Amino acid sequence: MNQIDRPRRRFADEMEGTTSERSGRHETRRLRHELRRRTVTVSRLEHLTPRMMRVHFISPELADFVSAAPDDHVKLFFPQAGRIDGKPVMRDFTPRAFDRAAGSLTIDFALHATGPATEWAASVRVGDQLDIGGPRGSQVMPDDFDWYLLIGDESALPAIGRRVEELRPGVPVTTLVTVVHPYEEQRFAARAAWTPIWLHRGEPSDADAGLLCDRLASFQPPPGDGFVWIAGEAMIVRALRAYMTEERGHPKAWLKAAGYWQRGRSDGNVAIDD
Ligand SMILES: Cc1cc2nc3c(=O)[nH]c(=O)nc-3n(C[C@H](O)[C@H](O)[C@H](O)COP(=O)(O)OP(=O)(O)OC[C@H]3O[C@@H](n4cnc5c(N)ncnc54)[C@H](O)[C@@H]3O)c2cc1C
Repeated sequence: MNQIDRPRRRFADEMEGTTSERSGRHETRRLRHELRRRTVTVSRLEHLTPRMMRVHFISPELADFVSAAPDDHVKLFFPQAGRIDGKPVMRDFTPRAFDRAAGSLTIDFALHATGPATEWAASVRVGDQLDIGGPRGSQVMPDDFDWYLLIGDESALPAIGRRVEELRPGVPVTTLVTVVHPYEEQRFAARAAWTPIWLHRGEPSDADAGLLCDRLASFQPPPGDGFVWIAGEAMIVRALRAYMTEERGHPKAWLKAAGYWQRGRSDGNVAIDD
């Protein structure tokens, strides 16, 4: 039996004993929200790590802001001085935290080499303003799984951190995250039984898929039903999704995968799920 066969058999064995379809557990709720565009003002900046800029926004327009799922996204509109049509460019970001009563919203920007969003975040100042749209909707996964596995890179860390912090006390959650350097590791205020695994890989590259699959080969899932969430560079997410479903036999219905960016392409978010 090779390294890949061993975990596949273990996942398959576990699946035979599940009763979740009969009991109606794990049903995703899809919510639509009124699409609103809001202007928000930067109130505070935190260099969370050398490559992660946490931006705190405030606005009275956030009094009715809704974000029901940790992997929701808002559209950020970045003004482009040189653009002929004068239109802002849009990029997707995760509401890392929000407080309607305080009218506040927090967004974490992974700083990378180039692009309107990363350049804005690298030079932002308190008092700057930005327009945001959405979230348009939320896919709410009930917190009724027996365990969770969250996989991603720096761009996925805000959604991973929010989910870890929102999970119920004591539930096992493993995070497997590639980062440039040990300095990029983060701490989350988890009530869940959180096992972080950090892979220090230097700058992102195509080799990250192999690195992650190698580490996943020794992942021992706890007993019961598990939810797997994957996000990051699209090609790597595709490879990991195939590994988890085809090699490990993880049920597709209990896995969500999203391409958050594409190497060499601007605004490269892509749907990965069938
Ligand atoms: C649903 C969703 C939620 C997201 N949430 C967040 C979030 O909370 N925080 C966050 O930081 N990102 C998040 N992202 C990813 C973010 O939208 C992209 O990284 C986006 O491309 C950044 O825009 P940009 O203007 O900086 O770069 P672009 O103009 O889009 O790209 C310029 C160049 O940079 C490369 N590039 C883009 N992103 C990265 C990256 N992360 N690392 C290395 N190279 C990159 C591109 O391949 C391209 O060559 C999210 C994406 C989605 C779809």
